[in-house]
Amino acid sequence: MRKEQIKTNYYEAVNGEWLENAVIPGDQPSISAFLELHLGIEKTLMDLTSTWEKDQTGLNDNLKKFIKLYQMTKDFDKRNELGTKPFQVILDKINKLNSLKDLDIKFDEFALESIETPFGFAVMQDFMNSNNQVLYFGASDLFLPDTSYYKDEKSKEQLIGLFTATTTQLLSLFGFSKEEIEKLISEALAFDALLVPVTKSSVEKADYVKMYNPLKKAEVEKLTQNFPVMSHAEKLVKQEVDQLIITNLDFINAFDSIIDEKNFKIMKSWMIVSNILQFSSDLTDEIRVAGGAFGRALSGTKEARSKEKFAFYQAYNRFSQVVGLFYGENYFGPVAKNDVKTMVHEMIGIYKERITDNTWLNEKTKEKAIKKLSTLTVHVGYPDELPPYYDQFEIKGYENGSDLIQEKLAMTKIVSAFNFEKYNKEPNKNIWGMPASMVNAYYSPTNNQIVFPAAILQRPYYSIDQTPSENYGGIGAVMAHEISHAFDNNGAKFDETGSLNNWWTEEDLEAFNQKAKDMIALFDGVETGFGPCNGTLTVSENIADSGGIRCALEASKKNGHHSDEEFFANWARVWRSKASTEYRQLLLRVDVHGPSILRANMQLSNLPEFQEFYQIKESDQMYLPKEKMVSIW
Ligand SMILES: [Zn+2]
Repeated sequence: MRKEQIKTNYYEAVNGEWLENAVIPGDQPSISAFLELHLGIEKTLMDLTSTWEKDQTGLNDNLKKFIKLYQMTKDFDKRNELGTKPFQVILDKINKLNSLKDLDIKFDEFALESIETPFGFAVMQDFMNSNNQVLYFGASDLFLPDTSYYKDEKSKEQLIGLFTATTTQLLSLFGFSKEEIEKLISEALAFDALLVPVTKSSVEKADYVKMYNPLKKAEVEKLTQNFPVMSHAEKLVKQEVDQLIITNLDFINAFDSIIDEKNFKIMKSWMIVSNILQFSSDLTDEIRVAGGAFGRALSGTKEARSKEKFAFYQAYNRFSQVVGLFYGENYFGPVAKNDVKTMVHEMIGIYKERITDNTWLNEKTKEKAIKKLSTLTVHVGYPDELPPYYDQFEIKGYENGSDLIQEKLAMTKIVSAFNFEKYNKEPNKNIWGMPASMVNAYYSPTNNQIVFPAAILQRPYYSIDQTPSENYGGIGAVMAHEISHAFDNNGAKFDETGSLNNWWTEEDLEAFNQKAKDMIALFDGVETGFGPCNGTLTVSENIADSGGIRCALEASKKNGHHSDEEFFANWARVWRSKASTEYRQLLLRVDVHGPSILRANMQLSNLPEFQEFYQIKESDQMYLPKEKMVSIW
């Protein structure tokens, strides 16, 4: 700890030495506590993979399929020999389209194979009734990561220039002539431009309840006269569909003016460019490197992943839950699983007490909040069940005339069929949204459920070698952070069953909304050295951090071996991160999580205990006047 920096910049006081010495890997945009753990797991999994390659005794069928796919992804000689030929199947399909009528004929096939089209469907839980699953409909993503880039002429020119240069290079590897490339890119960008005004910004998307806009069948039909959207919906789910959930009303309202025969030519070029970008990772080494160039430039990543790493991830990403389950069972195990479960329930208990003692809520709202906490389900370590589609996967291999694109299309079809099959059925809440080997955690508002994959349960978050206060400042705060998402500006709109339902008294809701506004104000415009923080974009995460640190601190104090310094220092430690300027600027625009330095410092400044313990005075940079402190949970 650099004592002299405690009152000016606590994050640097704790992490100064790390910040000086940490090296951002060439194929990453950043390094952080999260990423350090991730790199450790990456090594474990890559070592395991090469062991399995040599000896498959005892492996289950799905792990054997993973290895078989890995042997294909790592065979760059074969990939280079095949060149762009595997992509020709997709290119031919798109090239044969000459009108919206043709797209109408092929649309379901494209939807099942995840071949990019300007709009598409997804089956997800119904916000109004979390025990059912419904069909959502929306437009494809833009080429640039956020609408704000298009609004600012300077950034637009710069990024479109970058996109054009990297995509030109990529298309040239597919053998297109200079004229063809210019035409394809300018037309694709012209179509992209039509989508910009009807796409939500990252700030708008952060209010995710607003993507729930049910529209009756007849209304959808009225708005989509140029293309039979409803009949495709029914064909894909093989049932009658009475309504669609529109993720962005602006898009459906403009549907007929965008999806119009007169735009077909530019839409077709958009499809060619989008699919080349999407499938470039399945081709030669040169093409997969070129295909990642725009993303690397955007995030300030110096180099592409090595062939070895890339090949591993390509196979792993397809089988992540299968490999993750092996990791969880063998590197975490049932004893740790129970330990951590106990700790989560301890945090939920503290949370309940805090709600009971809360001074700004009425009894009626408190009762509902406690009900929500009592029904919160907790998943730790690794899941009890995997999605069933892995069992249907079949890897054919090059020896049977297959290639990576054929394999991808075959697996995608199985997954898509599984997803569309879920329509109008009860969801399986035992299936996780991330693999056990991922360093992360999440709260699902529609399941009222928190999930802690095995991977995050390591130092500095959690270790039996750390003091209890350090563990509370690490994993304890992460746990309480996830619990707090049940009560952030989005989660608070869902009830204990995971359905959208206002369970607040009018007065309490008003008080909560005012507090959320105060949280926005606390972070909004705060300089980070790379640009100001956007308080609105990051409000849900800041509410969760603030609830998380308060609840974890209380748990730590109750533990009996509490040390304020150990707790605060580990809180700051878990947020250590070093990143390229480009990556920091990108995150400031698109990430709902605030910049790590603020997650550490602002949340501590906002804590009376921190101010008192270090005797922070008005003249100190870490000072925040008590009347400006925002405490919600
Ligand atoms: Zn969060």
